[in-house]
Amino acid sequence: MSNNPILLVHGGAWAIPGNMVEAHLNGVRNAIAAGWRVLEKGGTALDAVEEAVVVMEDDETFDAGRGSFLNREGKVQLDALMMDGATLRAGGVGCVEHIANPIRAARKVLSESPHVYFVGEGAERFAQEQGLPLCENKELVIPREVERLRAFQSNASKDNQDTFAPTISHDTVGAVALDTSGNIAAATSTGGTLNKAPGRLGDSSLIGCGCYADNQSAAASTTGWGEPIMKLVLAKWATDRVASGNLPQWAAAEAMNYLKDRVNGHGGIILLDSQGRTGIAHNTPRMAWALRTSDRLDCGLESK
Ligand code: ASP
Repeated sequence: MSNNPILLVHGGAWAIPGNMVEAHLNGVRNAIAAGWRVLEKGGTALDAVEEAVVVMEDDETFDAGRGSFLNREGKVQLDALMMDGATLRAGGVGCVEHIANPIRAARKVLSESPHVYFVGEGAERFAQEQGLPLCENKELVIPREVERLRAFQSNASKDNQDTFAPTISHDTVGAVALDTSGNIAAATSTGGTLNKAPGRLGDSSLIGCGCYADNQSAAASTTGWGEPIMKLVLAKWATDRVASGNLPQWAAAEAMNYLKDRVNGHGGIILLDSQGRTGIAHNTPRMAWALRTSDRLDCGLESK
């Protein structure tokens, strides 16, 4: 079977201000270019989502890899998950502090381990055993984020700042892909939320919350305020709607309504089924996304 491949990525859902729009759109386009190189050569959806996410982890625009938000102790703490829709194999890492590309570690968990999820030091030891480089945490910290945390912590004591307001950025990254063999995959990577408590894990790297993929339903990656998304197991909720016959476009929009109505959450989602149908939705003012098919590249900030 030879299908037309598709790649869809997001770079977080929030009120991206005008002066940051170009950086976000460039970032998602670069991610598409890397993932598409894999797909157009007949590579797997898994490899494509990994390569797309690595580009966004390396891009300081996003809350993933180097340049992520800092936790309340001033450290970068990263979470990532990948899932293979053909086999339902999944690999996740949580609360890692010394891996610049946690999605690479998640891929190793998926491909090389009988386990599905590793956290903290055990995840880092596993990654190192698999040949991935470890780094100092300070190599992941950039001055912009030190200043952002400082400003947040000094204002928070004054006026009870809401960490979860849609104006606070949610720059988690994610990708979903369909390959020429008809298989789909999903990947999500994040630095989590600003000023989070050490050890806090959000939705992004939890199966069915921030990421899910099953050839029989759809591949999904979410972004936004993680705690409400986790409570609804939102990625799985959306893919289940596709499995029961709904269009990904409808399921994505409904997932955002459900998130808002049920738990007053906000965020965004990308969805792709194995027939190549897509859904892009968010209930925040903007979400950076890009979509590549055999004949076009599209990107934007609005739902579609
Ligand atoms: N969902 C992520 C988290 O709560 C944040 C984000 O999407 O930017 O960790």
